[in-house]
Amino acid sequence: MDKIRIGIVGYGNIGKGVEKAIARNEDMELAAVFTRRDPASVKIETKTAAVKSMDDMKAMKGEVDVMILCGGSATDLPVMGPQIAADFNTIDSFDTHARIPEYFANVDQAAKAGENVSIISVGWDPGMFSLNRLYAESILVQGSTYTFWGRGVSQGHSDAIRRIEGVKNAIQYTVPIEDAVNRVRSGSEPSLTTREKHLRECYVVPEEGADLKAIEEAIKTMPNYFDEYDTTVTFITEEELKENHSQMPHGGFVIRTGETGTEGSRHVIEYSLKLDSNPEFTASVLVAYARAAYRLSKKGESGARTVFDIAPVLLSMKTPEEQRAELL
Ligand code: NDP
Repeated sequence: MDKIRIGIVGYGNIGKGVEKAIARNEDMELAAVFTRRDPASVKIETKTAAVKSMDDMKAMKGEVDVMILCGGSATDLPVMGPQIAADFNTIDSFDTHARIPEYFANVDQAAKAGENVSIISVGWDPGMFSLNRLYAESILVQGSTYTFWGRGVSQGHSDAIRRIEGVKNAIQYTVPIEDAVNRVRSGSEPSLTTREKHLRECYVVPEEGADLKAIEEAIKTMPNYFDEYDTTVTFITEEELKENHSQMPHGGFVIRTGETGTEGSRHVIEYSLKLDSNPEFTASVLVAYARAAYRLSKKGESGARTVFDIAPVLLSMKTPEEQRAELL
Protein backbone atom coordinates (compact mmCIF):
# COMPACT_ATOMS: atom_id res chain seq x y z
CA MET A 1 0.00 0.00 0.00
CA ASP A 2 1.28 3.46 -0.92
CA LYS A 3 1.36 5.61 2.19
CA ILE A 4 -0.05 9.13 2.29
CA ARG A 5 2.97 11.43 2.52
CA ILE A 6 2.43 14.25 5.03
CA GLY A 7 4.36 17.49 5.43
CA ILE A 8 4.18 19.37 8.75
CA VAL A 9 4.42 23.15 8.40
CA GLY A 10 5.47 24.72 11.72
CA TYR A 11 6.76 22.67 14.62
CA GLY A 12 4.98 24.03 17.72
CA ASN A 13 2.52 22.18 19.99
CA ILE A 14 0.20 21.15 17.16
CA GLY A 15 3.11 20.30 14.82
CA LYS A 16 4.57 17.95 17.44
CA GLY A 17 1.13 16.42 17.99
CA VAL A 18 0.75 15.78 14.24
CA GLU A 19 4.08 13.95 14.17
CA LYS A 20 2.88 11.65 17.00
CA ALA A 21 -0.51 11.12 15.28
CA ILE A 22 1.13 10.12 11.98
CA ALA A 23 3.07 7.44 13.88
CA ARG A 24 -0.29 5.97 14.99
CA ASN A 25 -1.83 5.92 11.47
CA GLU A 26 -0.31 3.12 9.44
CA ASP A 27 -1.50 4.48 6.09
CA MET A 28 0.58 7.65 6.55
CA GLU A 29 4.22 8.68 6.72
CA LEU A 30 5.99 11.92 7.57
CA ALA A 31 7.77 13.29 4.49
CA ALA A 32 9.29 16.44 6.06
CA VAL A 33 8.85 19.15 8.69
CA PHE A 34 9.08 22.74 7.42
CA THR A 35 10.05 25.58 9.75
CA ARG A 36 10.76 29.29 9.59
CA ARG A 37 13.55 28.81 12.14
CA ASP A 38 17.01 27.49 11.34
CA PRO A 39 16.23 23.82 10.47
CA ALA A 40 19.37 22.70 12.35
CA SER A 41 17.86 24.13 15.55
CA VAL A 42 14.64 22.06 15.30
CA LYS A 43 14.91 18.43 16.48
CA ILE A 44 12.11 16.01 15.55
CA GLU A 45 11.30 12.45 16.73
CA THR A 46 10.95 10.74 13.31
CA LYS A 47 14.27 9.30 12.14
CA THR A 48 13.19 8.89 8.51
CA ALA A 49 12.16 12.52 7.86
CA ALA A 50 14.15 15.74 7.53
CA VAL A 51 13.58 19.24 8.88
CA LYS A 52 13.63 21.73 6.04
CA SER A 53 13.46 25.46 5.61
CA MET A 54 10.16 26.92 4.40
CA ASP A 55 12.06 28.13 1.30
CA ASP A 56 12.66 24.50 0.24
CA MET A 57 8.97 23.63 0.24
CA LYS A 58 8.15 24.25 -3.43
CA ALA A 59 10.97 21.91 -4.48
CA MET A 60 9.08 19.08 -2.74
CA LYS A 61 6.01 19.33 -4.98
CA GLY A 62 5.27 15.74 -5.97
CA GLU A 63 6.91 14.36 -2.80
CA VAL A 64 4.24 15.51 -0.30
CA ASP A 65 0.54 14.58 -0.68
CA VAL A 66 -0.87 16.82 2.07
CA MET A 67 0.66 19.69 4.05
CA ILE A 68 -0.70 20.04 7.60
CA LEU A 69 -0.38 23.72 8.51
CA CYS A 70 0.42 24.08 12.21
CA GLY A 71 1.10 27.81 12.48
CA GLY A 72 -0.86 30.19 14.73
CA SER A 73 -4.27 31.48 13.69
CA ALA A 74 -3.61 35.14 14.52
CA THR A 75 -0.86 35.98 12.04
CA ASP A 76 0.65 32.79 10.51
CA LEU A 77 -2.31 31.06 8.84
CA PRO A 78 -3.92 34.10 7.13
CA VAL A 79 -0.69 34.39 5.09
CA MET A 80 0.48 30.75 4.90
CA GLY A 81 -2.95 29.22 4.19
CA PRO A 82 -3.52 30.76 0.73
CA GLN A 83 0.22 30.71 -0.11
CA ILE A 84 0.67 26.97 0.45
CA ALA A 85 -2.78 26.02 -0.95
CA ALA A 86 -1.53 27.26 -4.32
CA ASP A 87 1.02 24.40 -4.43
CA PHE A 88 -0.20 21.63 -2.10
CA ASN A 89 -3.31 20.03 -0.61
CA THR A 90 -3.60 21.53 2.90
CA ILE A 91 -5.29 21.06 6.27
CA ASP A 92 -5.29 23.69 9.01
CA SER A 93 -6.88 24.45 12.38
CA PHE A 94 -7.66 28.16 11.79
CA ASP A 95 -9.73 29.11 14.83
CA THR A 96 -10.49 32.83 14.59
CA HIS A 97 -14.24 32.17 14.23
CA ALA A 98 -15.16 35.71 13.09
CA ARG A 99 -12.66 35.63 10.22
CA ILE A 100 -13.48 32.16 8.85
CA PRO A 101 -15.59 33.41 5.87
CA GLU A 102 -12.79 35.72 4.68
CA TYR A 103 -10.11 33.07 5.24
CA PHE A 104 -12.20 30.45 3.40
CA ALA A 105 -12.55 32.76 0.37
CA ASN A 106 -8.79 33.45 0.20
CA VAL A 107 -7.81 29.79 0.54
CA ASP A 108 -10.54 28.71 -1.93
CA GLN A 109 -9.22 31.03 -4.63
CA ALA A 110 -5.61 29.80 -4.23
CA ALA A 111 -6.56 26.11 -3.97
CA LYS A 112 -8.74 26.27 -7.10
CA ALA A 113 -5.96 28.00 -9.05
CA GLY A 114 -3.47 25.34 -7.93
CA GLU A 115 -5.97 22.47 -8.37
CA ASN A 116 -5.54 21.45 -4.73
CA VAL A 117 -7.94 20.56 -1.90
CA SER A 118 -7.70 22.61 1.32
CA ILE A 119 -9.76 21.76 4.40
CA ILE A 120 -9.77 24.71 6.79
CA SER A 121 -10.67 25.16 10.49
CA VAL A 122 -10.26 21.49 11.41
CA GLY A 123 -9.81 20.52 15.08
CA TRP A 124 -12.33 20.41 17.92
CA ASP A 125 -13.62 24.00 18.01
CA PRO A 126 -13.86 24.80 15.19
CA GLY A 127 -14.08 21.23 14.03
CA MET A 128 -15.80 18.40 15.92
CA PHE A 129 -17.88 20.85 18.00
CA SER A 130 -19.01 22.63 14.82
CA LEU A 131 -20.12 19.33 13.26
CA ASN A 132 -22.05 18.40 16.38
CA ARG A 133 -23.78 21.80 16.50
CA LEU A 134 -24.84 21.31 12.87
CA TYR A 135 -26.03 17.71 13.30
CA ALA A 136 -27.99 18.61 16.45
CA GLU A 137 -29.64 21.69 14.92
CA SER A 138 -30.60 19.83 11.77
CA ILE A 139 -32.37 17.14 13.80
CA LEU A 140 -33.95 19.18 16.61
CA VAL A 141 -35.12 22.07 14.49
CA GLN A 142 -36.89 23.76 17.44
CA GLY A 143 -34.52 24.09 20.38
CA SER A 144 -31.41 25.77 21.78
CA THR A 145 -27.70 24.96 21.39
CA TYR A 146 -25.10 25.61 24.09
CA THR A 147 -21.31 25.25 24.01
CA PHE A 148 -19.27 25.02 27.22
CA TRP A 149 -15.46 24.91 27.21
CA GLY A 150 -13.15 23.42 29.81
CA ARG A 151 -11.84 22.70 32.22
CA GLY A 152 -8.87 23.67 30.10
CA VAL A 153 -5.98 25.98 29.44
CA SER A 154 -6.67 29.04 27.32
CA GLN A 155 -3.43 30.02 25.60
CA GLY A 156 -4.74 33.50 24.68
CA HIS A 157 -5.80 34.33 28.25
CA SER A 158 -2.54 32.94 29.69
CA ASP A 159 -0.56 35.16 27.28
CA ALA A 160 -2.65 38.21 28.25
CA ILE A 161 -1.76 37.72 31.94
CA ARG A 162 1.93 37.27 31.14
CA ARG A 163 1.95 40.73 29.55
CA ILE A 164 0.96 42.42 32.86
CA GLU A 165 3.76 44.25 34.68
CA GLY A 166 5.19 42.20 37.56
CA VAL A 167 4.06 38.83 36.12
CA LYS A 168 6.83 36.30 35.46
CA ASN A 169 4.65 33.43 34.28
CA ALA A 170 0.97 32.48 34.32
CA ILE A 171 -1.61 29.97 33.22
CA GLN A 172 -5.37 30.40 32.88
CA TYR A 173 -8.05 27.70 33.05
CA THR A 174 -11.52 28.18 31.62
CA VAL A 175 -14.02 26.31 33.82
CA PRO A 176 -17.66 25.60 32.92
CA ILE A 177 -20.07 26.36 35.78
CA GLU A 178 -21.71 23.06 36.78
CA ASP A 179 -25.02 24.62 37.76
CA ALA A 180 -25.35 26.18 34.29
CA VAL A 181 -24.48 22.88 32.56
CA ASN A 182 -27.12 21.08 34.68
CA ARG A 183 -29.78 23.71 33.91
CA VAL A 184 -29.05 23.26 30.19
CA ARG A 185 -29.19 19.44 30.46
CA SER A 186 -32.59 19.69 32.17
CA GLY A 187 -34.01 20.98 28.88
CA SER A 188 -35.32 24.24 30.35
CA GLU A 189 -33.47 26.26 27.64
CA PRO A 190 -32.23 28.95 30.07
CA SER A 191 -30.78 32.20 28.74
CA LEU A 192 -27.34 32.42 30.35
CA THR A 193 -25.00 35.40 30.59
CA THR A 194 -21.26 35.03 29.93
CA ARG A 195 -20.65 35.22 33.71
CA GLU A 196 -23.16 32.43 34.40
CA LYS A 197 -21.54 29.97 31.95
CA HIS A 198 -17.79 29.99 32.73
CA LEU A 199 -15.31 30.87 35.48
CA ARG A 200 -11.71 31.89 34.88
CA GLU A 201 -9.03 30.46 37.21
CA CYS A 202 -5.61 32.11 37.03
CA TYR A 203 -2.34 30.79 38.50
CA VAL A 204 0.28 33.51 38.51
CA VAL A 205 4.03 33.50 39.26
CA PRO A 206 4.92 37.08 40.29
CA GLU A 207 8.30 38.76 39.85
CA GLU A 208 10.14 39.27 43.14
CA GLY A 209 8.75 42.31 44.99
CA ALA A 210 5.81 42.74 42.59
CA ASP A 211 2.59 44.44 43.78
CA LEU A 212 0.24 41.44 44.06
CA LYS A 213 -2.89 43.53 44.64
CA ALA A 214 -2.19 45.54 41.46
CA ILE A 215 -1.67 42.35 39.42
CA GLU A 216 -4.94 40.84 40.68
CA GLU A 217 -6.81 44.07 39.90
CA ALA A 218 -5.25 44.29 36.40
CA ILE A 219 -6.34 40.72 35.62
CA LYS A 220 -9.89 40.96 36.96
CA THR A 221 -10.67 44.21 35.15
CA MET A 222 -9.01 43.40 31.80
CA PRO A 223 -11.54 44.22 29.08
CA ASN A 224 -12.54 41.45 26.60
CA TYR A 225 -10.57 38.85 28.57
CA PHE A 226 -11.72 38.86 32.22
CA ASP A 227 -14.07 41.74 33.02
CA GLU A 228 -17.23 39.81 32.05
CA TYR A 229 -16.29 36.73 34.15
CA ASP A 230 -15.90 35.76 37.80
CA THR A 231 -12.15 35.30 38.02
CA THR A 232 -9.95 33.79 40.75
CA VAL A 233 -6.25 34.68 41.02
CA THR A 234 -3.85 32.39 42.93
CA PHE A 235 -0.17 33.29 43.29
CA ILE A 236 2.21 30.32 43.06
CA THR A 237 5.95 29.65 42.63
CA GLU A 238 7.64 28.80 39.33
CA GLU A 239 8.24 25.25 40.69
CA GLU A 240 4.53 24.78 41.48
CA LEU A 241 3.65 26.00 37.99
CA LYS A 242 6.04 23.49 36.41
CA GLU A 243 4.92 20.62 38.61
CA ASN A 244 1.13 21.11 38.59
CA HIS A 245 0.33 23.14 35.48
CA SER A 246 2.57 22.03 32.61
CA GLN A 247 -0.03 19.87 30.80
CA MET A 248 -2.44 21.28 28.21
CA PRO A 249 -5.77 19.64 29.09
CA HIS A 250 -9.03 20.88 27.56
CA GLY A 251 -12.48 19.77 26.52
CA GLY A 252 -16.07 20.81 26.84
CA PHE A 253 -19.63 20.08 25.80
CA VAL A 254 -21.97 20.87 22.94
CA ILE A 255 -25.55 20.42 24.14
CA ARG A 256 -28.78 20.92 22.21
CA THR A 257 -32.18 20.44 23.73
CA GLY A 258 -35.40 20.71 21.80
CA GLU A 259 -38.90 19.48 21.09
CA THR A 260 -40.49 17.29 18.46
CA GLY A 261 -44.01 16.16 17.60
CA THR A 262 -47.34 17.73 18.45
CA GLU A 263 -47.16 16.74 22.14
CA GLY A 264 -43.78 18.42 22.53
CA SER A 265 -41.58 15.38 23.32
CA ARG A 266 -38.29 16.68 24.73
CA HIS A 267 -34.79 15.50 23.72
CA VAL A 268 -31.20 16.18 24.78
CA ILE A 269 -28.23 15.72 22.44
CA GLU A 270 -24.81 15.98 24.08
CA TYR A 271 -21.28 15.70 22.70
CA SER A 272 -18.51 15.83 25.26
CA LEU A 273 -14.71 15.90 25.10
CA LYS A 274 -12.26 15.41 27.98
CA LEU A 275 -8.77 15.90 26.59
CA ASP A 276 -5.49 15.27 28.44
CA SER A 277 -3.69 17.09 25.63
CA ASN A 278 -5.44 19.70 23.50
CA PRO A 279 -2.65 19.77 20.83
CA GLU A 280 -2.40 15.96 20.54
CA PHE A 281 -6.18 15.63 20.12
CA THR A 282 -6.40 18.53 17.64
CA ALA A 283 -3.54 16.95 15.69
CA SER A 284 -5.38 13.61 15.55
CA VAL A 285 -8.40 15.35 14.00
CA LEU A 286 -6.13 17.11 11.48
CA VAL A 287 -4.58 13.80 10.43
CA ALA A 288 -7.98 12.14 9.84
CA TYR A 289 -9.00 15.08 7.62
CA ALA A 290 -5.66 14.86 5.76
CA ARG A 291 -6.79 11.40 4.62
CA ALA A 292 -10.02 12.94 3.29
CA ALA A 293 -8.15 15.73 1.47
CA TYR A 294 -5.89 13.15 -0.16
CA ARG A 295 -8.86 11.08 -1.33
CA LEU A 296 -10.76 14.11 -2.69
CA SER A 297 -7.68 15.33 -4.51
CA LYS A 298 -7.20 11.89 -6.09
CA LYS A 299 -10.77 12.18 -7.40
CA GLY A 300 -9.81 15.44 -9.11
CA GLU A 301 -11.58 17.86 -6.74
CA SER A 302 -10.15 21.25 -5.84
CA GLY A 303 -10.92 24.30 -3.68
CA ALA A 304 -11.50 25.02 0.00
CA ARG A 305 -13.70 22.84 2.22
CA THR A 306 -14.69 22.82 5.90
CA VAL A 307 -15.62 19.88 8.12
CA PHE A 308 -19.23 20.41 6.97
CA ASP A 309 -18.31 19.41 3.41
CA ILE A 310 -16.44 16.20 4.21
CA ALA A 311 -18.34 12.91 4.15
CA PRO A 312 -17.47 10.71 7.16
CA VAL A 313 -16.62 7.78 4.88
CA LEU A 314 -13.53 9.70 3.72
CA LEU A 315 -12.05 10.04 7.22
CA SER A 316 -11.57 6.41 8.14
CA MET A 317 -8.72 4.05 7.40
CA LYS A 318 -11.41 1.35 6.99
CA THR A 319 -12.90 0.67 3.56
CA PRO A 320 -16.55 1.65 2.96
CA GLU A 321 -17.41 -2.09 3.07
CA GLU A 322 -15.72 -2.49 6.46
CA GLN A 323 -17.45 0.64 7.76
CA ARG A 324 -20.88 -0.68 6.73
CA ALA A 325 -20.22 -4.11 8.24
CA GLU A 326 -18.62 -2.95 11.51
CA LEU A 327 -19.87 0.53 12.33
CA LEU A 328 -23.27 1.05 10.74
P1 NDP B 1 2.50 27.27 18.97
O1 NDP B 1 2.70 28.66 19.47
O2 NDP B 1 3.03 26.13 19.80
O3 NDP B 1 3.16 27.14 17.51
C1 NDP B 1 2.91 28.05 16.48
C2 NDP B 1 4.16 28.23 15.63
O4 NDP B 1 5.16 28.89 16.38
C3 NDP B 1 4.83 26.93 15.21
O5 NDP B 1 4.22 26.40 14.07
C4 NDP B 1 6.28 27.33 14.99
O6 NDP B 1 6.53 27.60 13.61
C5 NDP B 1 6.41 28.67 15.76
N1 NDP B 1 7.51 28.69 16.74
C6 NDP B 1 8.42 29.68 16.84
N2 NDP B 1 9.31 29.43 17.81
C7 NDP B 1 8.96 28.26 18.37
C8 NDP B 1 9.50 27.47 19.44
N3 NDP B 1 10.60 27.83 20.09
N4 NDP B 1 8.87 26.32 19.77
C9 NDP B 1 7.75 25.93 19.13
N5 NDP B 1 7.21 26.65 18.08
C10 NDP B 1 7.80 27.80 17.71
O7 NDP B 1 0.96 27.11 18.71
P2 NDP B 1 0.09 25.77 18.78
O8 NDP B 1 0.77 24.72 17.99
O9 NDP B 1 -0.26 25.48 20.20
O10 NDP B 1 -1.27 26.22 18.08
C11 NDP B 1 -1.33 26.62 16.71
C12 NDP B 1 -2.73 27.10 16.38
O11 NDP B 1 -3.64 26.03 16.41
C13 NDP B 1 -3.29 28.11 17.38
O12 NDP B 1 -3.03 29.42 16.92
C14 NDP B 1 -4.76 27.84 17.38
O13 NDP B 1 -5.40 28.84 16.65
C15 NDP B 1 -4.92 26.55 16.63
N6 NDP B 1 -5.73 25.58 17.41
C16 NDP B 1 -6.95 25.20 16.91
C17 NDP B 1 -7.75 24.30 17.58
C18 NDP B 1 -9.06 23.88 17.00
O14 NDP B 1 -9.78 23.13 17.68
N7 NDP B 1 -9.43 24.26 15.80
C19 NDP B 1 -7.35 23.73 18.88
C20 NDP B 1 -6.02 24.16 19.30
C21 NDP B 1 -5.27 25.07 18.59
P3 NDP B 1 8.02 27.46 13.00
O15 NDP B 1 8.42 26.02 13.20
O16 NDP B 1 7.87 27.85 11.59
O17 NDP B 1 8.89 28.41 13.78
